Amino acid sequence: MKLSIIGTGYVGLVTGACFAQMGNSVICVDIDEKKINNLKKGIIPIYEPGLEEIVKNNFKIGTLEFTTDIKYALKNSDIVFIAVGTPQGEDGSADLQYVLAVAKDIGKYMTHPLIVVDKSTVPVGTADKVRETIKKELEIRVENKELTEGEFKELMEFDVVSNPEFLKEGDAVNDFLKPDRVVIGADNEKSMEILKELYAPFTRSHERFIGMDVRSAELTKYAANAMLATKISFMNEMAKIAEAVGADINKVRVGIGSDSRIGYSFIYPGVGYGGSCFPKDVKALEKIAIDAGVEPKIIKAVEEVNKEQRIYFLNKILNRFKDIKNKTFAIWGLSFKPETDDMREAPSITIIKELIKRGAKIKAYDPKAMNEAKNFWLKDVKNIEYFDNKYDTLNNSNAMILVTEWKEFRSPDFFEMKKRLKNPIIFDGRNQYKKEKLNELGFEYYQIGVSS
Ligand code: NAD
Repeated sequence: MKLSIIGTGYVGLVTGACFAQMGNSVICVDIDEKKINNLKKGIIPIYEPGLEEIVKNNFKIGTLEFTTDIKYALKNSDIVFIAVGTPQGEDGSADLQYVLAVAKDIGKYMTHPLIVVDKSTVPVGTADKVRETIKKELEIRVENKELTEGEFKELMEFDVVSNPEFLKEGDAVNDFLKPDRVVIGADNEKSMEILKELYAPFTRSHERFIGMDVRSAELTKYAANAMLATKISFMNEMAKIAEAVGADINKVRVGIGSDSRIGYSFIYPGVGYGGSCFPKDVKALEKIAIDAGVEPKIIKAVEEVNKEQRIYFLNKILNRFKDIKNKTFAIWGLSFKPETDDMREAPSITIIKELIKRGAKIKAYDPKAMNEAKNFWLKDVKNIEYFDNKYDTLNNSNAMILVTEWKEFRSPDFFEMKKRLKNPIIFDGRNQYKKEKLNELGFEYYQIGVSS
């Protein structure tokens, strides 16, 4: 099939590359010229395992194109995916300006009736807004005599469907190629069938296609993210209780995870969730509920607990040192989670800024996110030094603080660490190590949900 993906970010690039991998002709569009020029040169803007290879291969054989020219893309496709950002607006709701700008362009430049697919995470009712925006632009073209009534009628055959994306950064290619489920919200049977056919190669082994109406599909994405965020916040609250009553949250986690109704995923205690999705989607769902006249009690609490979690972890450091002025801390991990260079809403940002605000110095290391940190997220932050090797951050540091659970942090050389640290102290925001073992090795070890 002939597809365009508008917005070549985490979701758009993975979507485009994976559809191309199945033999479709895909045009990826972005307004960011630098990004598009780099992609044409084989420079991939994000770190995502497995992505570079399929982008390069498909670009080479011509199944994947990159352009800033949306007119060209629309002319040469039958299905158009909208995959632009929907950041948090001032009132907490999803800011739809980028989605609606694309809808406007579609109405302005469409030459034949298209299936428009909302892949961005958008509030319930957005498909209607996209439809209205496109229609309005088509009417303007009629007024300006760019379209005849007959052509207008034909173009009005376009459809808008919802296809929320459930990929996880860090495993996005795998998730897209082997999805747990593909949700399509379409009110028109023909569009539903076409989307089913498009996704059929990804769901060969068993049926993973879930068809529903557009509004239910739009809400499904928010419900999924809010449920996962709820599990995290619940576990973080449970960790505080465990610590206060002298229990060990690591043992409680295994104790409850073994119940198949609960399961092991998303019940790890830590420094709270971050990233480009959970924080903004939880907030947007809260706004959706309030606008619909429903008081979102659980959703509000999920967000509140998450914010407090970073402070709870920070307080462990402050309580231990009292005065951290001129103390140096080694930070292991900057990205909001492992296997990505994404630092949007990363807990490391809050923790580093709070420490520096109190006069501390930071020595940081991350396997993939240091460029993002240096050039963007922590660009204006002074008193932070970056190292290419995790052990080098420890030299003369007063403690090591583990913020992101990259695999390479799981079994470090503790003897080397002890040798380099000024004080053998570890604050572990992801419960990666065994307390008994570290105490035996002579470390002071602080983790989440276990009294020290
Ligand atoms: P992103 O910020 O990485 O990418 C968005 C891209 O859209 C940018 O490259 C930007 O330049 C481009 N863009 C903006 N306006 C444009 C326009 N008018 N025309 C063409 N390009 C335009 O965003 P993302 O993380 O890929 O997220 C996209 C959507 O997918 C969001 O709604 C997000 O909530 C949702 N989502 C994200 C993830 C994730 O893990 N990142 C997972 C599922 C769903």
